[in-house]
Amino acid sequence: MQVLASPTSPLLDSFGRVGTDLRVSLTDRCNLRCSYCMPAEGLDWLPSAEVLTDDEVVRLLTIAVEQLGVQQVRFTGGEPLIRRGFTDIVARTARLRPRPHIAVTTNGMGLERVAPALAAAGLDRVNVSLDTVRADTFRTITRRDRLGDVVRGLAAAAAAGLAPVKINAVLLRGHNDDQAPELLAWCLDRGYELRFIEQMPLDAQHGWSREAMVTADEILAALRTTFDLTPHPDERGSAPAELFLVNGGPGTVGVIGSVTRPFCGACDRVRLTADGQIRNCLFAREESDLRTALRSGADDTEIAERWRRAMWTKRAGHGIDDPTFLQPARPMSAIGG
Ligand code: SAM
Repeated sequence: MQVLASPTSPLLDSFGRVGTDLRVSLTDRCNLRCSYCMPAEGLDWLPSAEVLTDDEVVRLLTIAVEQLGVQQVRFTGGEPLIRRGFTDIVARTARLRPRPHIAVTTNGMGLERVAPALAAAGLDRVNVSLDTVRADTFRTITRRDRLGDVVRGLAAAAAAGLAPVKINAVLLRGHNDDQAPELLAWCLDRGYELRFIEQMPLDAQHGWSREAMVTADEILAALRTTFDLTPHPDERGSAPAELFLVNGGPGTVGVIGSVTRPFCGACDRVRLTADGQIRNCLFAREESDLRTALRSGADDTEIAERWRRAMWTKRAGHGIDDPTFLQPARPMSAIGG
């Protein structure tokens, strides 16, 4: 525990992993209602007084980068693009030194309008969530008729230089699990890098079941009906996606087997929720409250120390396969995906 006392030590956990990749949720609200994430009527949103202000977010980012060794910042939510002040938060993050890599995970709605400003502010990359390129399937999954907005948002991101544009897709049995090759062909045609993510037990409705989940093996088998996939020669490192060359390359596809092929041993992530709680794992059941510390006058050194303590207790693995596994109390939209 010696390590916790040093004012300059990084975000270490007791298994020797170091947190360098910070996911920052900027809001728990979203303008889509993806069935595997949120109920049609939405959720009880966080009271706005509990949501960190822009200045509070930037202060925590400054501590993370300058004192805790965070190198990558990914904004998420909820839907981060609906946060007023988002472009300014990006610009202020880009002024931190050492300058972190800055990315956003978004559903792509509204990206058409803001992509140039975000690129100018210093955003490096976007991951856009898109589970289908069929308008009717999009409407069924997201409960909104907005496929066109997302498609235009993707094109605008690429045109603004936010490349390579990455796409995250979740396959749902009976909805889009027959569309994996079609989605990959669409992405390859446009130069977008597609990654499929196994559905995780993080929905507000607790509707996830292991049997209904489309596994990484199934995803790969479906893709191999149409494409030749070979393991990518690059080192995977801490990347969650297993990457494959498609038809010998240069196009690629990734599969993130969060449930059946967990990568916790190499995890370098830590999460900050929109209401200022640190989570050392997506599936953590405890959070550490930095907002109260911030608002009661704690100085940067004390906040950094609280953050290190929160990280130290990170579990070895998420344990989804363990019979004692309990879904976290907060859904994905509130934790930050
Ligand atoms: N609104 C943004 C977006 O759509 O990308 C950011 C937040 S969203 C929660 C982040 C990612 O989490 C999306 O790619 C979404 O598909 C994914 N997601 C949501 N619920 C999930 C679940 N239960 N299992 C796996 N991925 C999930």
